[in-house]
Amino acid sequence: MNVVSSCSIASCLEAAKNYGGPMIVQFSRGGGQFIAGKTADNADDAACIAGSVAGALHVRQVAELYGVPVILHTDHCQRSWLPWFDGLMDANEKYFKANGEPLFSSHMLDLSEEPLEENVGTCKEYLQRMAKCDILLEMELGVTGGEEDGVDNTDIDSSRLYTQPEEVWEVYQQLSSVPNGRFTVAAAFGNVHGVYAPGNVDLQPQILHNTQKYISEKLGDGDPKPTCFVFHGGSGSSREDIRYAIEAGTIKMNIDTDTQWAFWDGVREYEAKYHDYLQGQIGNPEGETKPNKKYYDPRMALRSGEEAMAKRLCEAAEDLNCIDVLNWSK
Ligand SMILES: [Zn+2]
Repeated sequence: MNVVSSCSIASCLEAAKNYGGPMIVQFSRGGGQFIAGKTADNADDAACIAGSVAGALHVRQVAELYGVPVILHTDHCQRSWLPWFDGLMDANEKYFKANGEPLFSSHMLDLSEEPLEENVGTCKEYLQRMAKCDILLEMELGVTGGEEDGVDNTDIDSSRLYTQPEEVWEVYQQLSSVPNGRFTVAAAFGNVHGVYAPGNVDLQPQILHNTQKYISEKLGDGDPKPTCFVFHGGSGSSREDIRYAIEAGTIKMNIDTDTQWAFWDGVREYEAKYHDYLQGQIGNPEGETKPNKKYYDPRMALRSGEEAMAKRLCEAAEDLNCIDVLNWSK
């Protein structure tokens, strides 16, 4: 789940407590910068780093109050954004030294725009560093379509939206060779960022299944699902496609657009309900001199957004077979 503020973090934790499952809270580079504040000095990604680190520390501080396990993750990072990634790794190593665990559980490196060899080579270098403090790497193969966080792939050649099994096998071999290296693959199977009118997205989750079969045969060790996949662009996907992707070895789905909408829809609903109380500091349908402070207190509209987002997240948890899973082990 992508977050951009303490409000969206609270929505995540509220939802996880309600559905009784774990939660992956992730920061995009832009989301981290937003947390630091849009006018904070961002030389060498300083604000992107500081905001992501502050967000992670905030989650650690409050998550205990909800009693839910949280995985802290960061989203897409292309080569030109590596200063952000390096800053997060410095913070992880410092935190690991003091606490015996990394600040973040995992990070994504998205070099899918580059030739396979360069993508895998850089991922392997980073995984060697990450593995030393128990951090998992999420890498991307193929291209997630659509537009998100300032990266626009809406006009990309459609063949690149579908990952080939041979590419995943190459990644599998390279990254498996790293001691203590753990990784997931965000493979493209027609998934896109954003929500579009029906008919514009051609999801082919059987690509994931075919890839598992291909790698399983190469390994020959009887494991039918050797690869852990990540499903980007979960928003707008049918429960059927989501469940199929899980069956094919998907262990993480990203959802952003649908919860962005849910948050806004909560704010919109609040404004619509109290519109006549929100047009000035004094004066509403109950009287010309009535004060409106309790209606325009920002917490009122923001709380409405939080509630709507938490509700949407509970629906996502249902799609993902994640209801009450914390009680399964008890
Ligand atoms: Zn994505």
